[in-house]
Amino acid sequence: MSTIEKNIAKVAARIRAAAQAAQRDPASVGLLAVSKTQPAAAMREAFGAGVRDFGENYLQEALDKQAELGDLGLAWHFIGPIQSNKTKPIAEHFDWVHSVDRLKIAQRLSDQRPATLPALNVCLQVNVSGEASKSGCAPEDLPQLARAVAAMPRLHLRGLMCIPAPSDDPDEQRAAFARLRALRDELALELDTLSMGMSQDLEAAIAEGATWVRIGTALFGARDYGRPH
Ligand SMILES: *Cc1c(COP(=O)(O)O)cnc(C)c1O
Repeated sequence: MSTIEKNIAKVAARIRAAAQAAQRDPASVGLLAVSKTQPAAAMREAFGAGVRDFGENYLQEALDKQAELGDLGLAWHFIGPIQSNKTKPIAEHFDWVHSVDRLKIAQRLSDQRPATLPALNVCLQVNVSGEASKSGCAPEDLPQLARAVAAMPRLHLRGLMCIPAPSDDPDEQRAAFARLRALRDELALELDTLSMGMSQDLEAAIAEGATWVRIGTALFGARDYGRPH
């Protein structure tokens, strides 16, 4: 087995164990492989081991790899910060966007989603850690944003996403994820998705109801930001 295959097996085992501990069906937790800065060859290897969903943060890097991997039929998720001048290619080239945090971006994505494609799956990114993080909408602004996005014709609002401030304390990790879950439940919309949990804290996220865990380092190893992207 290659290193990536071994890593995928290890992460799958962690997901299974965490789901079982939470009395959840392991199949209810999706593995989103975060492939930013990783070469297309590594993604092809992950595909060979059964991974179908890939998360990317940098638009140009993602478009280049989509061209290289077009034969595989992958599902592409945009998970990085979104500048408004980049919404059109995102609307045209992705299946999911996890990082929508303001109305203007949502409106542009809806307007620019091609009619030939299904509605774009969207999560709203929420800042659950207050001052510690700059991205994500404030919890108090979420209900209004969610109502507006749910009404946009070319978006399918699926749920919420967060990137809590890093913590080594499992209780602290769980508290942040529990907050996102509570915000989702309070919205009283049909939302089936909680995108939360990364390499360090996927167990805590699954305990609190994660349906996508976004895993980079534990699958592909450390990122080399010296590579062009
Ligand atoms: C990079 C990134 C991840 C993956 O983080 P790891 O700690 O490498 O698993 C997950 N989510 C987002 C939004 C990211 O930018």
